[in-house]
Amino acid sequence: MTRGASSIRELMALPTANLVAEADRIRTERYGDGVWIRGLMEFTNRCACNCLYCGLRRENRKIGRYSLEENVLLDAARAAFDRGIRTFVLQGGEDPLWTTDRLCAIVRAIKEQTSGEAAVTLSCGIRSPGEYRALRDAGMDRYLMRFETSDRELHECLRDGVSLERRLRALRDLREAGVEVGSGFMVGLPGETEKTRRENLELCRDLELDMIGIGPFIPNPDTPLFAAAPGTIEETVRMTAIVRIILPDANIPATTAAGSLFAEGREAMLAAGANVLMPNITPLSVRMLYLLYPGKDTIRQDGVQELDEIAGHLRALGRTMRLDRGDSRSSARRRGVAETAAARM
Ligand code: SAH
Ligand code: SF4
Repeated sequence: MTRGASSIRELMALPTANLVAEADRIRTERYGDGVWIRGLMEFTNRCACNCLYCGLRRENRKIGRYSLEENVLLDAARAAFDRGIRTFVLQGGEDPLWTTDRLCAIVRAIKEQTSGEAAVTLSCGIRSPGEYRALRDAGMDRYLMRFETSDRELHECLRDGVSLERRLRALRDLREAGVEVGSGFMVGLPGETEKTRRENLELCRDLELDMIGIGPFIPNPDTPLFAAAPGTIEETVRMTAIVRIILPDANIPATTAAGSLFAEGREAMLAAGANVLMPNITPLSVRMLYLLYPGKDTIRQDGVQELDEIAGHLRALGRTMRLDRGDSRSSARRRGVAETAAARM
């Protein structure tokens, strides 16, 4: 099977079974049977943005808003760390209460509390290059920010005026800050075409992403897209498999959205190249309020207590739960190149 730069079109023409088999082979070759665990903390559901697809959008007055305090986040991180988790993902809306100084302080505190052993990932939208650099200096290791769709017009419409260029500039700023960069897209957004999906894949390749998050779009009744059709499992699996084939060294999560919309959705992604799971370790008291989309299947489960169950479930799938940091192979390679260059100077 050809995997060159021009082959995305050819890959998209292949039957799903062939794509899944090739993606599974590559995932095994690069990452073995490991599935790396990230502890997800949804630290604020307040958001200044107004994305049409998202339940946290500014104009949704139907949800109660929260923003967790530092001590709550540190307690959650401590419990997860004690159980062995070595990556924390702090995800939230673009919340003005969370200034860069505050974010830097929480990153520093988590790093200190874990003696620098844990990787800290942030996912809280567009910020300035200086802010990303400050977060890196505070110890942030990784950042997640999906481009959502590569279609310029669709992006600007669905993100209520925020341009694709602005999102991509922020992703470049993160790359320049030197952290691992994750991005990705939703599958089945209203208005999306086969061309959009091809260009989504091309963009993932061109951005040389370290992590790629792919999830089906799920219409939320409290948003303007309430009546739109959801993404399909078939397309979600196909996109996952192609991403594994074109970016063999990337970390790819089996996403909550896939598990929420389809029974066995996450298992299908794990079989199609995914190698990461992100159990929710947000305090249960606010879980109900972080409703990006309805039917989120991690609302009642405590990610830390659930780990034994996850390990057993993965074992039954022939996979091994991994709690260590699980840096992406692409970022390790990039660091290696930088170190070699520095040694030569
Ligand atoms: N505010 C940050 C992170 C939180 S949103 C940001 O926007 O980057 C996290 C992700 O949830 C988004 O990137 C989007 O892809 C996903 N999401 C939001 N609404 C969704 C919906 N209705 N269906 C599926 N995924 C959704
Ligand atoms: Fe805010 Fe992110 Fe939701 Fe957009 S997707 S409204 S930026 S939380």
